[in-house]
Amino acid sequence: MANLNAKWAAENTYDAIVVGSGISGGWAAKELTEKGLKTLVLERGPMVRHIEDYPTATTDPWDFKYPLGKLPAEELKAHYPVQNRTGYALTEMTKHFFVRDDEEPYTEAKPFDWVRGYHVGGRSLIWGRQTYRHAPIDFEANAREGVGVDWPIRYADLAPWYDYVERFIGVSGQKEGLAQLPDGVFQPPMEMNCVELALKAKSEARFPERRITIGRAAHLTKPTEEQLALGRGQCQSRNLCARGCPFGAYFSSNSATLVAAERTGNLKIRPASIVTSLIFDERKGRATGVRVLDATTGQESEFYASVIFLCASTLNSAWVMLNSTSKRFPNGFGNASDQVGRNLMDHHLNIGAQAQAPGFEDMYYSGRRPNGIYVPRFRNLGDKATQRSDYVRGFGYQGGAGRAGWNRNLTGLGLGAERKAALSQPGPWAIHLGGFGETLPYADNRATLNHEVKDKHGLPTLTLNVSLRENEHAMRKDMQVAAAEMLEAAGFKNVAAYDLGSAPGNGIHEMGSARMGRDPKTSVLNAHSQVHECPNVYVTDGSGMASASCVNPSLTYMALTARAVDHAVSERRKGNL
Ligand SMILES: Cc1cc2nc3c(=O)[nH]c(=O)nc-3n(C[C@H](O)[C@H](O)[C@H](O)COP(=O)(O)OP(=O)(O)OC[C@H]3O[C@@H](n4cnc5c(N)ncnc54)[C@H](O)[C@@H]3O)c2cc1C
Ligand code: SF4
Repeated sequence: MANLNAKWAAENTYDAIVVGSGISGGWAAKELTEKGLKTLVLERGPMVRHIEDYPTATTDPWDFKYPLGKLPAEELKAHYPVQNRTGYALTEMTKHFFVRDDEEPYTEAKPFDWVRGYHVGGRSLIWGRQTYRHAPIDFEANAREGVGVDWPIRYADLAPWYDYVERFIGVSGQKEGLAQLPDGVFQPPMEMNCVELALKAKSEARFPERRITIGRAAHLTKPTEEQLALGRGQCQSRNLCARGCPFGAYFSSNSATLVAAERTGNLKIRPASIVTSLIFDERKGRATGVRVLDATTGQESEFYASVIFLCASTLNSAWVMLNSTSKRFPNGFGNASDQVGRNLMDHHLNIGAQAQAPGFEDMYYSGRRPNGIYVPRFRNLGDKATQRSDYVRGFGYQGGAGRAGWNRNLTGLGLGAERKAALSQPGPWAIHLGGFGETLPYADNRATLNHEVKDKHGLPTLTLNVSLRENEHAMRKDMQVAAAEMLEAAGFKNVAAYDLGSAPGNGIHEMGSARMGRDPKTSVLNAHSQVHECPNVYVTDGSGMASASCVNPSLTYMALTARAVDHAVSERRKGNL
């Protein structure tokens, strides 16, 4: 029996374990395996293989059961009541990449739109691919303003890792030379259309500080040898990305990091493996592994490694940590500071302005650009001219101009010959600018473990209690006004500012549940993303973010992950882990 146990333990022992296979888990897997560590990736959802498991990638609109894939109201109400609130691409074409809300319950103490994808690749398959660096001011603001805790790193610490990640994933974009939106390693930018160029010319003449650029997007516009060798190809501008891209032209774990990891021969992916807790060895003062519940068979097992990367996404990593109680950690793993689950941030959005753009009725474009335009932050940049007295931090805009109906997913133009005829006619153009605002970290914006409400596996769930506060509300007023000003400056007509309200979660940029910091008394992770109280556990998804910036965050998670692996492998070589 002892022999059997030893054999079983050896079979379940790896150099490293990665929890989750989404954007951050994919990066951890690639870096660890490329550095020679036998690595086990534990993923709670089913396997999704690149190309072969993208069932709708090449389906034509008329071949879906429902017109243009629009799910019936009863199905949305029964299975996706939360995610349907967000207005994101939850259709017959993509629903297999979203969890069913009714199957994965959580409790909203206040409204929280939690958007999730539980499968190999996580939300890297359905993300919007907007890819921006955090700026030096983002890493300095907490300390300067006395908000939250100071980041233990600065932009210079992350800059080489941004370079490293961008080179691998491929980011198309335009260099702008702005301090608040550092340039990166870019492939050729996509083009702005005629209405966007008109907005740029006229709005920048009136508001020079409000730069308008093409979105920076993780799409290959000029693939490198390395990307081609992975089987990835140039973007075909189909804009069907959320179905999975058969060209591997946008960055996902499935098309890029996991492929690279697999090629090393050091990777093992175990789908249907819900990590329920971390195993802590009191004697060694280290985590020795994780407990896993098989989502298909219900069987419980343990896996062991000397290095553990928690990459289950911000809220799920908090769940794993809070659910990992022991004599040493009665309050949750590495949680002496009581900061696990606190300081939750997202970006607030659904606000801005739209307008009609007359004068372009005879203009056409070809292709379906999977991208929009971007207006980098232009408030509170550290000088008098941009300073606001009513709020701190800032926002950016994402938006674009187009001709209604040119996107093949849009309804309203009929089908078949009727639609083709309508699209062949010149027509009106519309434009919009939608704000993405920074939220501050508030200690009582919080996720807690709920033992009353269990999921289908009998596991406790989360209660989310998160709300926007005064700073965000003051910023939102400005976000509306400034967008309308820009559209008016361009001479567009029927300019309408809007505020549709923004429940936390709606930005799908959850962050902060195990913040980085200098002091173990007030933070969970150190400057290398290691748990202060247990250095062989690294948490490198959005949990570690000490502030949110206003830019989309996934690039920063990837850079933090690559940097943390470099640290872990070097510590392991020195015998410190
Ligand atoms: C529609 C949409 C648009 C978006 N657009 C953008 C954008 O333009 N730019 C941007 O920067 N970001 C965008 N995002 C956000 C982006 O997808 C996330 O920031 C990113 O995926 C987070 O990476 P992650 O590794 O932390 O989590 P995920 O990618 O969500 O991966 C986490 C993985 O862990 C698994 N997991 C969870 N719990 C466990 C457990 N207990 N055991 C084992 N496995 C577990 C999950 O199943 C999942 O596969 C968007 C998201 C969505 C949904
Ligand atoms: S637009 Fe580009 S990335 Fe998106 S599905 Fe088409 S080829 Fe793939």
